[in-house]
Amino acid sequence: MARTVIIEEAGGPENMKLVDREMGEPGPGEIRITHKACGLNFIDVYQRTGLYPLELPHALGMEAAGIVEAVGEGVTHLKPGDRAAYAATPPGAYSEARVMPAAQVCPLPDGIPFEDAAAIMLQGMTVEYLFHRVWPLKKGDTVLFHAAAGGVGLLACQWARSEGVTLIGTAGTDEKCQLALDMGATACINYRDRDFVPEVEKLTDGAGVDVVMDGVGKDTFDASLDCLKPLGMMISFGNASGPVDPVSLLTLASKGSLKLTRTTLFTFLADHDRCQDMARHVFSKVESGAVKVNIGQTYPLAEVAEAHRALEARETTGSTVLMP
Ligand code: NDP
Repeated sequence: MARTVIIEEAGGPENMKLVDREMGEPGPGEIRITHKACGLNFIDVYQRTGLYPLELPHALGMEAAGIVEAVGEGVTHLKPGDRAAYAATPPGAYSEARVMPAAQVCPLPDGIPFEDAAAIMLQGMTVEYLFHRVWPLKKGDTVLFHAAAGGVGLLACQWARSEGVTLIGTAGTDEKCQLALDMGATACINYRDRDFVPEVEKLTDGAGVDVVMDGVGKDTFDASLDCLKPLGMMISFGNASGPVDPVSLLTLASKGSLKLTRTTLFTFLADHDRCQDMARHVFSKVESGAVKVNIGQTYPLAEVAEAHRALEARETTGSTVLMP
């Protein structure tokens, strides 16, 4: 049996329940893993509220780190006793232990503590694909990155600095802006106080940015298009403020032949070898010191509802970890 957070109905944080669940033995292509730390991500909120529907009842959580206890037939990249970490489907990581598909589970280097791994697998591999696979950024490029003091955001600030990329961040308070600057943002705009479009214009001497990376969604999408250079790239990757309204393709033409994509990490993780490569890239950034893990808050697993409430209320900075 393993204590596991489930929902029976979509809704508020109070809908999450901690229950005892049977685990069973791993089948072909599966492992059993005991979790030492679990990650909290905004996608967990979308699944809880029903924006990203799950077949109910369902366990929640997409990310954790721990020790492999048993492996099923055909699993060759992990063995019992290995330290491991993952961002993976299906949801079920908010638990003491689970049986799950092995393909997206990655061997964890000894030098990276479980809490740090649980904080960076999903958010770190997100920055990895945004910076290297969707729109490979080059030294000297300029990116506008929304919610720069959040989990994905603080990793992006540091990753950008390590690659010689100019990152203009946005964040909801002056304190959050300062944190983003400390972590490597070249500039950070408090977008609750100020319209970020003229600020970006000033910061880029009227040129605009090469790419926008927008996990905020509804509140920032339209104005973000006005921050791009002609031929620039709009990457929408989240909906923290709500899903983006439908976009007219003609808008992309009139604003300078812009490119637009709506990405999800799980497309990139679907290929086993690519997933393992992405994890190794994240681990190497951490081990080299280029990227520091920022765990802004830690909660016992039993207090997961409070953790969700804080994330949705914009009270968190950096990553949030749940301790089973
Ligand atoms: P964050 O830690 O960044 O938290 C979300 C932040 O969004 C808040 O702290 C807040 O920062 C900002 N925000 C702006 N408006 C709102 C609002 N109305 N309600 C709540 N928050 C708001 O979360 P994550 O690092 O987990 O994720 C960041 C975004 O990236 C999310 O949208 C997430 O879904 C997305 N994501 C997408 C992935 C993909 O592959 N598609 C993978 C990983 C994450 P502030 O107060 O500074 O505005």
